[in-house]
Amino acid sequence: SCSSEPKVSEAQKASHVSKVIAIMSGKGGVGKSSVTSMLAVSLMRQGYKVGVLDADITGPSIPKIFGVTGRAGVSKTGILPSKSRDGIKLMSLNLMIETEDDPVILRGPLITQIVNQFWTDVIWGELDYLLIDLPPGTGDVPISVFQSFPLDGVVMVTSPQALANMVVRKAVKMVRNYEPPIYGLIENMAYLQCPDCTKKIEVFGKPKGEEDALRNSIPFLGELPLDPALAALSDAGKVEDYQSEAFDQIAKRLAEQIKI
Ligand code: ADP
Repeated sequence: SCSSEPKVSEAQKASHVSKVIAIMSGKGGVGKSSVTSMLAVSLMRQGYKVGVLDADITGPSIPKIFGVTGRAGVSKTGILPSKSRDGIKLMSLNLMIETEDDPVILRGPLITQIVNQFWTDVIWGELDYLLIDLPPGTGDVPISVFQSFPLDGVVMVTSPQALANMVVRKAVKMVRNYEPPIYGLIENMAYLQCPDCTKKIEVFGKPKGEEDALRNSIPFLGELPLDPALAALSDAGKVEDYQSEAFDQIAKRLAEQIKI
């Protein structure tokens, strides 16, 4: 047969993933991993089968947020993802190394190879949504994911303190060099809900997500509060205990837009 045909691995033959969605941010610290995790949780609560691929190889935080330390398994045909308490499939380099606080000292090409293997060699099985937590910015890994993954689309995460507009614009421009559509922009840490009244405190100034989305001609998916409960539960590896109307609404909007 023609040698240029892409090879399909045994793991891929054993998997059926309906929608592959990359979660991207222009810069670090805007809460991309937290938002990815909570979107996964909200989608799961809506009844979908969900997986999270942690493509942030040098700064992996997905296993910790879900409190998963168990080693990923290996079978004859591929790597078996770990499962969160409530059944979300997770793959991260931290699930494959001996000690989770060992630094990952790898050069670019190896890192992108590992991320690619998380797609080709992991037995994801049946999934409605696979969310990919990209490293921040527009570097090697995002480019490689855009080139080699069967991406259905991208979700952008920003926060009011992220010099948003220029950073978002760069990321949007990068994505537009490739096929996948941008489902929309989520503004994280947009406000703090006063615990004693209905007032929203705009900690980092006026949220600009909606304006940024408009200016970049992408949909605005909504704003999320800065919530100490989310930080505490992620720190404790109990993100699945977090309840948030704001997250659930965004996840619903997303699922409506990305019909499986
Ligand atoms: P990124 O993936 O963009 O680098 P993280 O998801 O790791 O960012 O978040 C950075 C820090 O901010 C973490 O300590 C996380 O718990 C916290 N955080 C993120 N989003 C929120 C939020 N909406 N409310 C409170 N803390 C948050």
